Parts: sequence; C-alpha cells; structure tokens
Amino acid sequence: MDSALNTIKQAVRDIPDFPKPGILFKDITPILNNGAIFQDAVRCFVEVNKGLNINKIVGIDARGFLFGAAAAYALGIGFVPIRKKGKLPYTTRSVSYSLEYGEATVEIHEDAIAPGERVVLIDDLLATGGTAFAASRLINEVGGVLVETQFLIELEFLKGRSLIEPCAPVRSFIRF
Ligand code: AMP
Repeated sequence: MDSALNTIKQAVRDIPDFPKPGILFKDITPILNNGAIFQDAVRCFVEVNKGLNINKIVGIDARGFLFGAAAAYALGIGFVPIRKKGKLPYTTRSVSYSLEYGEATVEIHEDAIAPGERVVLIDDLLATGGTAFAASRLINEVGGVLVETQFLIELEFLKGRSLIEPCAPVRSFIRF
C-alpha cells in the first residue's frame, strides 16, 4: 500500500493561486483520470471501513462524493450526500459556519440517517476542518453516530485535525 500511496501523492497536482491568490489548490483530477490510481485511492477508504461495522458513508459536496460514493458502492452500504445550501430537494437540516471570507451553509436530508446508525464522513481533503466540523454537527443533529472522519489528503499545517478530533477520530491517507 505504501507504494500505492506514493503514486497517489505524486498524482496530486498543485495549482498556485486557485481559486484566489495565496491558495495552493490540491487538484485531485489526475487521480480520477487514471483508472489504477483512482482504484487505489478508493481502496484506501474501502479497506479501513471493512472493519468499522458502519451502516452508511456520508460524503461532503462535491469531491467527497467521488470517493465516498465509490467506497459505499464497494462496501454495499448506503451513501448520504451533504450538500451546499439549496441543492437538496427534500426537508433538510442546515448548519452555517465561517469561512476565511464570509459564511457557508451545508445541508443534509433529515431522514438520510436513522437514529443510531453508524456513519463515516468522507471528503477529499482536510484543510481548516470547518467544513467537516459543520458536517459532523449535521450528522449529530439527525441522530447518526459519527464513527470516524476520513480524508484522502490532509494539509497538516492548517491543523484542521484539532477542530475535528474532539468530535470523532480523524484518518488521512496522504499528508502535505
Ligand atoms: P476546510 O473546511 O478548510 O477544511 O476545507 C475543506 C474543503 O475545501 C474540502 O471540501 C476541500 O475539497 C476544499 N479545499 C480547501 N482547501 C483546499 C486546497 N488547498 N486544495 C483543494 N481543496 C481544498
């Protein structure tokens, strides 16, 4: 797995100053673009979740859907999308949180997780942790049990882990 992780890491493309000056964007589309590397990335999530006895995977809009839905399919369990405000058609619960500039709101369908169901939260990348923290609040609000949060990539210097760890364990596969 170590060489697979190295290959995944090398496939991540740095885009300076996207979407705004000063941000070094980690572009994961080269991972998606290569069948073997995409399979290895999804396999990371599948393997760790085999032993966790979970009922559902929750993915964060939008790149969390790519890995989360693929892993849920492989595990034969349900997938729950957490989306940006205004995208989910049925009755939702919402949580708003602060971004570097302004505010964002994320939503979940109120019936997407049955009370007591064990879920894992997946996103492509952990930066400041604000988004995953808001998502973990939504999971709690609908009665889900958040077993773990999982990220393909962790930007360690932003220390998002320290925001999430009081709520749930944090696992990442590659780190910058
Ligand atoms: P945060 O709430 O700061 O942890 O940001 C996490 C979300 O923003 C994730 O859904 C990421 O996809 C995206 N994101 C934040 N920073 C970056 C970055 N430098 N490169 C790529 N995606 C990022």
